[in-house]
Amino acid sequence: MQHPQITAQMDTGSQPVNTRTIVITSGKGGVGKTTATANLGMSIARLGYRVALVDADIGLRNLDLLLGLENRVLYTAMDILEGQCRLDQALIRDKRWKNLSLLAISKNRQRYNVTRKNMERLIASVCALGYHFVIIDCPAGIDVGFINAISPAQEALVVTTPEITAIRDADRVAGLLEANGVYDVKLLVNRVRPEMIQRNDMMSVRDVQEMLGIPLLGGIPEDSHVIVSTNRGEPLVLKRKLTLSGIAFENAARRLIGKQDYFIDLKSPYKGIFHKMQHIIFG
Ligand code: ADP
Ligand code: MG
Repeated sequence: MQHPQITAQMDTGSQPVNTRTIVITSGKGGVGKTTATANLGMSIARLGYRVALVDADIGLRNLDLLLGLENRVLYTAMDILEGQCRLDQALIRDKRWKNLSLLAISKNRQRYNVTRKNMERLIASVCALGYHFVIIDCPAGIDVGFINAISPAQEALVVTTPEITAIRDADRVAGLLEANGVYDVKLLVNRVRPEMIQRNDMMSVRDVQEMLGIPLLGGIPEDSHVIVSTNRGEPLVLKRKLTLSGIAFENAARRLIGKQDYFIDLKSPYKGIFHKMQHIIFG
């Protein structure tokens, strides 16, 4: 049975578009899922697409903070399911980019009784509003919250750092994704340190990709600006002069929408950005 609040919203939805529903997962916590969700989402919105970000990380909810929208989260998906509000009231529009919205699933763990079916209906109703991308920020771990978050997705992005513990968990998650019918999976390697790779103290992005056997979406360098941007509630990709990780996130976003097929050189990224500009200008 459709939930009444959700059905009502679907009836008034905009033109149907082909929505891509992508879940951002990892296995190991703290590897950069939320950072990736905020930056990829913001980048894709800036490229002109309508994007809804879904914070499925209950309890450790922090996507709103990264986007600087924490004071505007009045309602969550739990309120919709309990009949307290409509979907459009829980979808918060970004102040800077109106084609970017945020939906939090729940503000506190006690009020979390979202089922897999509810989650699927909820995401279907968000898709029906005409978003090109619905990006779900997955909770840490691989329990019920993880299963709920991946079940509405057609695609997944597995985030890992170049550390063996994170890679092993990423491998496990890749297996679970496949077992749950998510076959379109890509890899994002975060917190890469080129100087450590040069010293043979860290696996390269390519090494990680080969270990996991998942197609690569991108490599994001370790960058102290990530922390600054988190504290400011302003995703890196909004900076006028992009930092290394900002460029890398932008490139990953372009690759996600199928607009770029090369990788930046993490040792000389600005050469990469020039190349990118040429690419855009000269086609
Ligand atoms: P997750 O959502 O997977 O738990 P977060 O996105 O919250 O991970 O990131 C965990 C921590 O790592 C945060 O403090 C964040 O600022 C930091 N972080 C993430 N990516 C980078 C990076 N590329 N460089 C430096 N710090 C990073
Ligand atoms: Mg997170």
